Amino acid sequence: MIIVMQQGASRDELAEVKKRIRDLGYKPHVIHGATRNVIGAVGDERGKSVLQSLESLPGVENVVPILKPFKLASREVKPEPSEVEIAPGLVVGGKELIVIAGPCSVESEEQIVGTAKSVKQAGAKLLRGGAYKPRTSPYSFQGMEEDGLKLLATARAETGLPIVTEVVNPRDVELVARYADVMQVGARNVQNFALLKMLGQLDKPILLKRGMATTIQEFLMSAEYILSEGNQKVILCERGIRTFETATRNTLDISAVPVLKGQTHLPVIIDPSHATGHAHLVPSMCYASVAAGADGLIVEVHPTPETAASDGPQSLRPAEFSAMMEKLTLFASAAERSL
Ligand code: PEP
Ligand code: MN
Repeated sequence: MIIVMQQGASRDELAEVKKRIRDLGYKPHVIHGATRNVIGAVGDERGKSVLQSLESLPGVENVVPILKPFKLASREVKPEPSEVEIAPGLVVGGKELIVIAGPCSVESEEQIVGTAKSVKQAGAKLLRGGAYKPRTSPYSFQGMEEDGLKLLATARAETGLPIVTEVVNPRDVELVARYADVMQVGARNVQNFALLKMLGQLDKPILLKRGMATTIQEFLMSAEYILSEGNQKVILCERGIRTFETATRNTLDISAVPVLKGQTHLPVIIDPSHATGHAHLVPSMCYASVAAGADGLIVEVHPTPETAASDGPQSLRPAEFSAMMEKLTLFASAAERSL
């Protein structure tokens, strides 16, 4: 249920409504709007009609049901778009398009620091790099683990770029959180509910990737797992879905951007690298993403893709990334975004 507070309702009135929601066995989530506050009361769907009684409390305008199964993620609860702050002055979901770039996997100090410097020079605002890799084959490179996290921290210290890195296993959440500025949940873990619940208890941005066979509603329900635990800093990422097509690694569902934007206030970015699987297809999908209304991109870049430990064929060289970024400014300004 959504408890809509009156414009100008007092703090005490808000506190009282929150208390009553808790007394009824529900969890209150206050969303501070531009003109008024609303409280999302979430919990057991079966007895939610008891919340209707809150309508008579001072300061309450009305109580309305949330129709979508994803509650806190929905535009019904929060009509205006959310901005997720990563560092002071760096937000995803604002006017500025945020580009995250870096290798699929961290491989060495030289590789990650060198890549960080070149992507920063080209305009990337965050560095990506996997230290724990969810590989399809158990015989493939699994990542450098904590040594990789340490190298990411070195690259951050040298360039100032915040780092995005994946957490694969709930038992590594605490360790990865010590190093990461943004915790990535990969496509294969989008419905790892134990992992999502743990991430919901952090005060750190989460980059949640859509699964390769996840509907948009299922994707938003996964976001809801994080939000309902109290972490509101969720960034959604479309990275291609499985279809019958084999010419590309996945099929980029570009229409997921406006569909998601219509249903949720959360920011949406695109990963054109995993979506296409081929470096030469990445730039055009970056431009298309901006045209579709994405808030940013996450792009794989490697100094020598031919020697990459993972995902070389879809990784741009630094010079190709830089050329893409230059052209992207034209598309950004057409979409009334800055870069
Ligand atoms: C990655 O970002 O390197 C990755 C494994 O992505 P995805 O989970 O989208 O396959
Ligand atoms: Mn990859």
